[in-house]
Amino acid sequence: MIDSHCHLNDERFDSDRDEVINRAREKGVSLIINIGSGYGFEGNLKSIQIARENAGYIYATVGIHPHDAKLFNNDIERKLRKLIEENRDIIVGIGEIGLDYHYNFSDPVVQQEVFRKMLYLARDYDLPVVIHSREAGDDTFRILGEGKNNLRGVMHCFSGDRDEALRYIEELGFYISISGVVTFKNALKTVEVVKAVPLEWLFAETDSPYLTPAPYRGKRNEPSFVEYVYRKIAEIKEENIENVERIIDSNINRLFSTLTSPE
Ligand SMILES: [Zn+2]
Repeated sequence: MIDSHCHLNDERFDSDRDEVINRAREKGVSLIINIGSGYGFEGNLKSIQIARENAGYIYATVGIHPHDAKLFNNDIERKLRKLIEENRDIIVGIGEIGLDYHYNFSDPVVQQEVFRKMLYLARDYDLPVVIHSREAGDDTFRILGEGKNNLRGVMHCFSGDRDEALRYIEELGFYISISGVVTFKNALKTVEVVKAVPLEWLFAETDSPYLTPAPYRGKRNEPSFVEYVYRKIAEIKEENIENVERIIDSNINRLFSTLTSPE
């Protein structure tokens, strides 16, 4: 099992981060992708540091989250480029980036501008993108389509319906990532997405410390809980869990060009 999306750089892990990482290893999580964006520019530095300390087990992505779009400027862009160039061995993607019209912490026009800048960054360094899109489906799809010849990526914590999911796959070749939301009682739309999307196009993630799956809802989420996402996907697909793990893990490894560590 791989946790393809988590935020171990969140301060909620400051007091017991190593224990959380050990628990993930013990529970059979073979690889973790830690998302750098969402905590200002500094969140990227912390994400890289955590990946460095756990080389070969944790990889990092970097970027500017739509919530932080208003903080972006030329200086930040220069720093991001330098960061990528100096850490090519552990940075495996740009993310999470995209649009969030639910909170609108940054002006939508600014969000779109920064989103495009992040996509140029991904193209310049030939890295996949991890997309956050909330209540912005049409604009996200349109902007990604502007550069579809060169982009590859994943729709993180996908919240759209089955038709939207299939459109991302068929027209953009993007993967669809399923979080612990799929274990919630009211997750009918996400269950339909899992049913409709072939296993070859699915990812699993925790988005920890957020979106804790059942039966741990209400607790802080952590990478070891990704097991419940895999289990739920297997149940919906009526497939055995080993098959689901093998296929999803190879999807994730393919996109991020990572290899599962031998343990
Ligand atoms: Zn996230």
